[in-house]
Amino acid sequence: MFLAPAIIYVVLFFGYPVFKNVIMGSQDYTTKTFFTGEAPWVGITNYVSIFSRSLFSTALINTALFTVGSILGQFIIGLALALFFRRRFPLNNVLRSLLLLPWPARALEVVASFTVLADMVREVGGDRVRVTSLVRADGDPHAYEPSPDDARTLRGADVVVINGLGLEGWMTRLIAASGTRAVPVAATARVPARRMQEDGKTVDDPHAWNSVANAPAYVASIAAALVAADPAGTAAYQANATRYTAELQALDAYVRQQVGAVPPGRRKVLMSHDAFGYFAAAYGVTVLSPVGLSTEAEASARGVAALRT
Ligand SMILES: [Zn+2]
Repeated sequence: MFLAPAIIYVVLFFGYPVFKNVIMGSQDYTTKTFFTGEAPWVGITNYVSIFSRSLFSTALINTALFTVGSILGQFIIGLALALFFRRRFPLNNVLRSLLLLPWPARALEVVASFTVLADMVREVGGDRVRVTSLVRADGDPHAYEPSPDDARTLRGADVVVINGLGLEGWMTRLIAASGTRAVPVAATARVPARRMQEDGKTVDDPHAWNSVANAPAYVASIAAALVAADPAGTAAYQANATRYTAELQALDAYVRQQVGAVPPGRRKVLMSHDAFGYFAAAYGVTVLSPVGLSTEAEASARGVAALRT
């Protein structure tokens, strides 16, 4: 974090002379000016020495204009560089560089495929992470159509968290198109997958997040991914994960108690889309749904008729 201000300072300081000498090929600059980084005081020294010799001479005016112009030039080039790299080098960090102050730690950029995962990452990451969800609240993670903005968001990601188990079919192409170097982490890596029949094929049921019983396994995978990407935050991530897991276990106990209050024969839930298989298995509830595992499926007459049980 101390190296970064030094690098930015050198870039700002040398930026204009390099631009003038190398890119523009100007003859105005001497090699000496180039290597001294055209420090403002070079201009000021010239100014003072010429001032003492001839008041209001052309040379004096030229030197004054030259000094003001070069400082302004450095400022404009520096600002342009700062704006161009503003994702990696936020403007307030560039200002800190000019004052030779160390940079604050940069937040880890985490992109989650949908909002439930984003919430979990926020709980575990705390203020060390900045989280973006690709699918917005109320969006459908099954049939999402990514935008060019999503590709840009992914490109800037340090960590990408997905549900996995085949939920984000749209993610593979998006990742390839974005050119991101982050390898997606499946939050369900530690969840035993529930297998189901869908259109005559056996597939994984992706809806593991709908059962609180699986949430601690999600948290463990997310914490491991954050630790791997940002080892300096290990203690913070583990402390947050422990606290959050305790909350989720309390919630799990609450769900068991509430379901337990319903007579076993009446523990039936009617859903449009079969998204609560894990919940049903964990809490002893029967879920009836005419629509299959994916929201892309449609209810069949036979499916609806089968509900009359
Ligand atoms: Zn679903």
